[in-house]
Amino acid sequence: MSSGAIFLDRDGVIVEEYGYVKQIDDMPIYPFVTDCIKKIHEAGMLAIVITNQSGVARGLFSEEELIKMNNLLKETTRVDAVYYCPHHLEGIVTKYSIKCRCRKPNIGLIEIACNDFDIDLNKSFFIGDREIDIQTGKNVGIKTILVRTGYGKQEEKKDIHPDYICDDLKKALDIIVKRTARE
Ligand SMILES: [Zn+2]
Repeated sequence: MSSGAIFLDRDGVIVEEYGYVKQIDDMPIYPFVTDCIKKIHEAGMLAIVITNQSGVARGLFSEEELIKMNNLLKETTRVDAVYYCPHHLEGIVTKYSIKCRCRKPNIGLIEIACNDFDIDLNKSFFIGDREIDIQTGKNVGIKTILVRTGYGKQEEKKDIHPDYICDDLKKALDIIVKRTARE
């Protein structure tokens, strides 16, 4: 049976936002994240990170370093998968300085996730702190939640209409669990 997925932005949602995270010991994961991922799994859902990491194209860190960070993130938080876009048109590393189909708000990374896992999009959500995340969720036609961590407080003032707005990932999961129990 296919299961719902919670698609999570990384920076500003599960990792504190302060510009480009460059190194592993530079990655401050919010203290509530591990419990949140446990809750997602208890609800029978998948926790999947979808992240734009143009720092690779901009030459700030290598793809290998990013993969190490992703592995640490998986080990620490137990998320099911981390999908990333290393590209940016204005990058300086030629290999990654392309127009791609995976950079949010494109849905390329979600399509890959749907190939790798048996996902029911009708039961899925996108949680992010930026307009680009809400747009990505809307582009695949799933429910969206804007959190006020990271850039969320500023983004909240924009005309972006997520399905829900709340303080952080913890609160977002309360909404999802309640909603899922009702259905
Ligand atoms: Zn890309």
